Amino acid sequence: MEIESVTCECCGLTEDCTQHYISKVKAKFAGKWLCGLCSEAVSDEVSRSRKKKTTVEEALNSHVSFCGSFSKANPAELVADGMREMLRRRSAGYLSPATSKKFARSNTT
Ligand SMILES: [Zn+2]
Repeated sequence: MEIESVTCECCGLTEDCTQHYISKVKAKFAGKWLCGLCSEAVSDEVSRSRKKKTTVEEALNSHVSFCGSFSKANPAELVADGMREMLRRRSAGYLSPATSKKFARSNTT
Protein backbone atom coordinates (compact mmCIF):
# COMPACT_ATOMS: atom_id res chain seq x y z
CA MET A 1 0.00 0.00 0.00
CA GLU A 2 1.25 3.48 -0.89
CA ILE A 3 2.01 5.73 2.05
CA GLU A 4 1.96 9.48 1.59
CA SER A 5 2.76 12.35 3.89
CA VAL A 6 -0.15 14.78 4.22
CA THR A 7 -0.57 18.02 6.09
CA CYS A 8 -3.74 19.00 7.92
CA GLU A 9 -5.41 22.04 6.32
CA CYS A 10 -6.49 23.26 9.75
CA CYS A 11 -3.69 22.84 12.26
CA GLY A 12 -0.78 21.94 9.98
CA LEU A 13 -0.11 18.58 11.58
CA THR A 14 1.67 16.16 9.24
CA GLU A 15 0.71 12.49 9.15
CA ASP A 16 1.75 9.52 7.07
CA CYS A 17 -1.35 7.87 5.65
CA THR A 18 -2.32 5.42 2.95
CA GLN A 19 -3.54 7.00 -0.27
CA HIS A 20 -6.85 5.26 0.19
CA TYR A 21 -7.36 6.92 3.56
CA ILE A 22 -6.23 10.30 2.25
CA SER A 23 -8.71 10.26 -0.63
CA LYS A 24 -11.47 9.12 1.72
CA VAL A 25 -10.86 12.08 4.02
CA LYS A 26 -10.56 14.52 1.12
CA ALA A 27 -13.84 13.32 -0.36
CA LYS A 28 -15.53 13.97 2.96
CA PHE A 29 -14.09 17.45 3.53
CA ALA A 30 -14.42 19.24 0.21
CA GLY A 31 -11.03 18.17 -1.13
CA LYS A 32 -9.11 19.08 2.02
CA TRP A 33 -7.20 16.68 4.23
CA LEU A 34 -7.73 16.98 7.97
CA CYS A 35 -5.98 15.18 10.81
CA GLY A 36 -8.01 12.88 13.03
CA LEU A 37 -8.72 15.51 15.64
CA CYS A 38 -9.73 18.23 13.18
CA SER A 39 -11.93 15.90 11.14
CA GLU A 40 -13.65 14.89 14.35
CA ALA A 41 -14.20 18.52 15.31
CA VAL A 42 -15.59 19.42 11.88
CA SER A 43 -17.88 16.38 11.72
CA ASP A 44 -19.09 17.26 15.19
CA GLU A 45 -19.81 20.83 14.08
CA VAL A 46 -21.82 19.61 11.08
CA SER A 47 -23.84 17.05 13.01
CA ARG A 48 -24.61 19.48 15.81
CA SER A 49 -25.78 22.26 13.54
CA ARG A 50 -27.94 20.19 11.20
CA LYS A 51 -30.90 22.42 11.98
CA LYS A 52 -28.96 25.48 10.83
CA LYS A 53 -27.86 23.46 7.78
CA THR A 54 -24.19 24.16 8.25
CA THR A 55 -22.31 22.68 5.32
CA VAL A 56 -19.04 20.79 5.65
CA GLU A 57 -17.28 23.75 4.07
CA GLU A 58 -18.73 26.23 6.55
CA ALA A 59 -17.79 24.02 9.45
CA LEU A 60 -14.34 23.64 7.93
CA ASN A 61 -13.87 27.38 7.59
CA SER A 62 -14.90 28.07 11.13
CA HIS A 63 -12.61 25.30 12.32
CA VAL A 64 -9.70 26.67 10.30
CA SER A 65 -10.11 30.06 11.95
CA PHE A 66 -10.50 28.34 15.32
CA CYS A 67 -7.17 26.58 14.79
CA GLY A 68 -5.66 29.77 13.41
CA SER A 69 -6.49 31.73 16.52
CA PHE A 70 -4.68 29.11 18.59
CA SER A 71 -1.68 28.51 16.38
CA LYS A 72 -0.83 32.21 16.17
CA ALA A 73 0.40 32.06 19.73
CA ASN A 74 0.73 28.36 20.41
CA PRO A 75 2.27 25.23 18.95
CA ALA A 76 0.06 22.51 17.49
CA GLU A 77 0.06 20.69 20.80
CA LEU A 78 -1.97 23.46 22.40
CA VAL A 79 -4.33 23.54 19.44
CA ALA A 80 -5.02 19.89 20.14
CA ASP A 81 -5.58 20.65 23.81
CA GLY A 82 -8.00 23.42 22.94
CA MET A 83 -9.94 21.17 20.64
CA ARG A 84 -10.13 18.35 23.15
CA GLU A 85 -11.45 20.82 25.67
CA MET A 86 -14.02 22.08 23.15
CA LEU A 87 -15.20 18.57 22.31
CA ARG A 88 -15.44 17.69 25.98
CA ARG A 89 -17.56 20.75 26.68
CA ARG A 90 -19.77 20.00 23.68
CA SER A 91 -20.36 16.36 24.48
CA ALA A 92 -21.64 17.42 27.89
CA GLY A 93 -24.39 19.30 26.07
CA TYR A 94 -25.54 16.17 24.25
CA LEU A 95 -27.78 15.26 27.17
CA SER A 96 -30.11 18.21 26.91
CA PRO A 97 -32.05 17.40 23.68
CA ALA A 98 -33.08 14.00 25.04
CA THR A 99 -34.18 15.54 28.30
CA SER A 100 -36.32 18.16 26.62
CA LYS A 101 -37.88 15.52 24.36
CA LYS A 102 -38.87 13.43 27.35
CA PHE A 103 -40.32 16.52 28.98
CA ALA A 104 -42.37 17.39 25.89
CA ARG A 105 -43.77 13.87 25.67
CA SER A 106 -44.97 13.85 29.27
CA ASN A 107 -46.69 17.16 28.63
CA THR A 108 -48.76 15.89 25.70
CA THR A 109 -50.00 12.69 27.32
ZN1 LIG B 1 -5.59 19.18 12.25
